[in-house]
Amino acid sequence: MTSQIARQHLIDPEVCIRCNTCESVCPTGAVTHDSRNYVVKFDLCNACGFCISPCPTGAIDHWRQVLSVAAYPIEDQLTWDSLPEQADLAGDALTVPPDEVLAATAAATAGQGGAVSAPWSAAVPHVNLYGPSQPAKARVAGNLRLTEIGASCDIRHIVLDLGSNAMPVLEGQTIGIIPPGHDANGRAHKIRLYSIASPRDGERPGYNNLSLTVKRVTEDHTGMPTAGICSNYMCDLNAGDEVQVVGPYGSSFLMPNHPGANLLMICTGTGSAPMRAMTERRRRQLSVEVPGQTMLFFGARSVGELPYFGPLMKLAKKFIDVTLALSRMPGQPRQYVQDCIRERGHAVSELLRSDETYVFICGLKGMEAGVEAAFSDICRERGLDWSVLAQSMRQNGRYHVETY
Ligand code: NAP
Repeated sequence: MTSQIARQHLIDPEVCIRCNTCESVCPTGAVTHDSRNYVVKFDLCNACGFCISPCPTGAIDHWRQVLSVAAYPIEDQLTWDSLPEQADLAGDALTVPPDEVLAATAAATAGQGGAVSAPWSAAVPHVNLYGPSQPAKARVAGNLRLTEIGASCDIRHIVLDLGSNAMPVLEGQTIGIIPPGHDANGRAHKIRLYSIASPRDGERPGYNNLSLTVKRVTEDHTGMPTAGICSNYMCDLNAGDEVQVVGPYGSSFLMPNHPGANLLMICTGTGSAPMRAMTERRRRQLSVEVPGQTMLFFGARSVGELPYFGPLMKLAKKFIDVTLALSRMPGQPRQYVQDCIRERGHAVSELLRSDETYVFICGLKGMEAGVEAAFSDICRERGLDWSVLAQSMRQNGRYHVETY
């Protein structure tokens, strides 16, 4: 059994001044010490964080991902002069994701024309750390409605706190949620995949949490009224509720790590989740690196139904070039993302010309053909052959599609 990866709380012996504050405030008795070091008992620490802010040096705020069967015992910690490096656990995960996850992923990525490798500079993802037989338990830290009251859809920003479970994720990955209960045939409900909407360091950096963008499904693909099992479960969650999480999944639709990369992102509705994760990653990195170009085409029916509209509009234009495609604004012509790509044909084709450009498309399956046709047209008008370019981008991990 290799899937039990946990987050272990450790104290940095090089920085700790042995003031005893942590031990005195720890409600579970997890912190102890000898004449040399202050240490944390893995089996008693519940990651409540009570000890973090009173620590005068920050020595207390250190974490490592470990296999729970191989967590550092206090006998080892008491001998340390410095903290150990983070071990690479990627190979310790379960090997094959559940069939339903494989099937959903294959359907979602069909539009990129088969398997595509990750961008060359993407960090190595952890995949399939938690399976259905032993899901990670997360708690809801927040459930915020993103769409206006009265809008035709209810989209939520849901923050999950992973507590003491290690869930290392990268921008572009998904996690699975197992809704409670059974279907009409008595089978457990299927896993539902959601793209992670927060960057790798969490919705709130350092708090071992992540966020999802979830739309309440109220009708099926033909427009018939139906209540989506998992989306309604998720949208109705309250702070403190427990959620079963599996994953993470995805080793191809990943953000390039080198700052010189250009991101060309095209999304509709809740397909904006991975775009928010990538944009937020870049925004947080601004103090340490100057990113390549970031261009976003974002489709929604109206401003009131566009997830993250407020925060998106506050981003500096020189940081991100945003074009909104609004399809049902009263008094305005219907616009889809592919229409806007055509209107911005010069800027888009200039990006496509660059070997540093990575394309990410996420959202409704219906937009794939329209976006491909728009790329093809703007390329032809400017002497580029889209079919050749697309083939090369796919081969080089620069064209990624995830549509449902
Ligand atoms: P939506 O509200 O139904 O649609 C968003 C916009 O796309 C609307 O303006 C819509 O216009 C437009 N649109 C419809 N057909 C289009 C087409 N053929 N080409 C271009 N634009 C088109 O979107 P949604 O319900 O949020 O759906 C998002 C999709 O993303 C879902 O299929 C979801 O499964 C998928 N997804 C979600 C996540 C996640 O983490 N939640 C991650 C990845 C993908 P009209 O309605 O006016 O026609």
